[in-house]
Amino acid sequence: MSTTLAPASPTTSADALGTSAARARSAVLEVRIHEDPGRFRVLTGDRPTGRLHLGHYFGTLRNRVRLQDLGVELFVIIADYQVLTDRDIADDLTAHVEELVLDHLAIGVDPERATVFTHSAVPALNQLLLPFLSLVSVAELNRNPTVKDEIAHSRQSAVSGLMFTYPVHQAADILFCKANLVPVGQDQLPHLEVARTVARRFNDRYGDGTPVFPVPDALLSEAPLLLGTDGTKMSKSRGNAVSLAASADETARLVRGARTDSERHIVYDPAGRPEVASLLLLAALCQGRTPEEVAADIGSAGASALKRTVTESVNEYLAPVRARRAEYGRDRAYLRRVLREGNERARAVADATLAEVRTAMRSHY
Ligand code: ATP
Ligand code: MG
Repeated sequence: MSTTLAPASPTTSADALGTSAARARSAVLEVRIHEDPGRFRVLTGDRPTGRLHLGHYFGTLRNRVRLQDLGVELFVIIADYQVLTDRDIADDLTAHVEELVLDHLAIGVDPERATVFTHSAVPALNQLLLPFLSLVSVAELNRNPTVKDEIAHSRQSAVSGLMFTYPVHQAADILFCKANLVPVGQDQLPHLEVARTVARRFNDRYGDGTPVFPVPDALLSEAPLLLGTDGTKMSKSRGNAVSLAASADETARLVRGARTDSERHIVYDPAGRPEVASLLLLAALCQGRTPEEVAADIGSAGASALKRTVTESVNEYLAPVRARRAEYGRDRAYLRRVLREGNERARAVADATLAEVRTAMRSHY
């Protein structure tokens, strides 16, 4: 497996996604979060299409727990409707949803403080989609580079309306709870731009001087685009991922098969040697060191030594997460209770926001 900050494909080039601006903005936000965590509310989430992996972990999950522990209120959406953006049937949905809850508990999300909920259980959230759709043009949706990339990887021969409107749906996910901070990977930046546009336009059109919605910011991590074993974005649906739940042996096997290059001397050169740089970054994140330091340790020992280091670092780093995962996994009733309570909390928040939206739109009869 390899990780890099380089683009995954021409349609998701770093420039098109505004990554450098988002990185600079993230640094400013970090300072503000530390000054006053109570000013922030986070919404973020995942599609229940499979197990969460290292790309999720270093791209967004680690930030979720860190923000929660700093005192930021956290909402985690399990986006079950959005599974259908790129396939006809949502296979094993119940199992995938439970596995996502399990992953979050294992990494340290605390259901007493955080709200973990499913899309389909919060009807008022989905009702925001209709007015929001009126705020964006078809041309704007057509330009979205992440939608283009997801269409390219879709399992469907035709693009559904749900795929096309995915970013607007996501705007509803974020804005229903008035989140102002969204810790995401690089692929989500164009979607977040749509959410920002929707918030601004709704406020301009209906706000009457008082904004109804905050304009949310993306928060990027040090690894906003981790690549999978095949050198493209690590993804649940592309069969190229090392999942958090993988065993130590499975991790070793997957890392051994990761793409590298033929140069023996290991140096950190993200632009020239993205695969090697990615592996170095992954080991460095697990060890709490810099990729340059990890590279200096390995020197001329070559790619196989690098892969051994990556495997050991990942397995050591994830050992406590995997142990907690196994423990929580024995109590399925608890997982379902976490979700039930999260759904209730999310419904109350969504109902209140929808009432406000109706008032603002003069449709409160
Ligand atoms: P799918 O293939 O089903 O779309 P996915 O692996 O792309 O799955 P999502 O549920 O779409 O995962 O994404 C959840 C969150 O994780 C998003 O914020 C996304 O940006 C982030 N993320 C996903 N993959 C990576 C990755 N390889 N590197 C960094 N962040 C990632
Ligand atoms: Mg995805």
